[in-house]
Amino acid sequence: MKSLISLALCLGVLKGLWGQPDFPQLRQRMVREQLQSRDIVEGSVLRALRKVPRHLFVPEKYRAEAYSDTPLPIGEGQTISQPYMVAFMTQALRLKGSDKVLEIGTGSSYQAAVLAELVDSVYTIEIVEPLGEAAAKRLQALGYENIQVRIGDGYHGWPRQAPFDAIIVTAGAEALPQPLVDQLAEGGRMVIPVGPHQGVRDLVLLRKKRNGKLVRESLMPVRFVPFTREN
Ligand code: SAH
Repeated sequence: MKSLISLALCLGVLKGLWGQPDFPQLRQRMVREQLQSRDIVEGSVLRALRKVPRHLFVPEKYRAEAYSDTPLPIGEGQTISQPYMVAFMTQALRLKGSDKVLEIGTGSSYQAAVLAELVDSVYTIEIVEPLGEAAAKRLQALGYENIQVRIGDGYHGWPRQAPFDAIIVTAGAEALPQPLVDQLAEGGRMVIPVGPHQGVRDLVLLRKKRNGKLVRESLMPVRFVPFTREN
């Protein structure tokens, strides 16, 4: 019996050495070393990042790096954000389960999947068609049923589903898109990188108070791929 156990252990170790990396373990370590060690404290956000298999959202050749502290290319000149940035922006939205959330910039759909672990319904818009199509397929394959993907210019938001309790923009805009501000519910929160084209932008948290008044707060300097517009 003992030798059977050691054989099984040996095989396990060998598989670990020559097979694919131990993704679940790498993911737990990512949460500890990149999120908890910084300022991500919200239990539900940490749980979501412990759960969503980030390696399945990046191109195969980058899988081994999926849990490193960095953005990665996802094709079409776009990137999946650094895990910490995903967690930070998600935490800033102060979500509750019944919230309806709009994301602009689906990309790999990793951020959308993280949101879908936290709230009932997620709407996400991607301007680059092949990315949007791949994202919709991926989310379906992974069994996410509470995310709707649309291909188009997110500047206009999703008027038929508005208002939204939270809006997250994962591309850097030069200014706040007015339609998104209009589609934010009273009491709603929006996070968006804003600033001049190229270079460092300001990660802005915008809150719409019950009386409709807007409160703008600057969270940190960030770099994001640009928010583009349909011609
Ligand atoms: N949230 C993504 C990160 C994607 S990078 C993830 O988790 O992987 C930003 C994405 O925003 C890119 O895919 C880019 O094509 C998209 N984008 C840029 N401008 C846009 C716009 N006006 N409407 C919708 N998507 C846009």
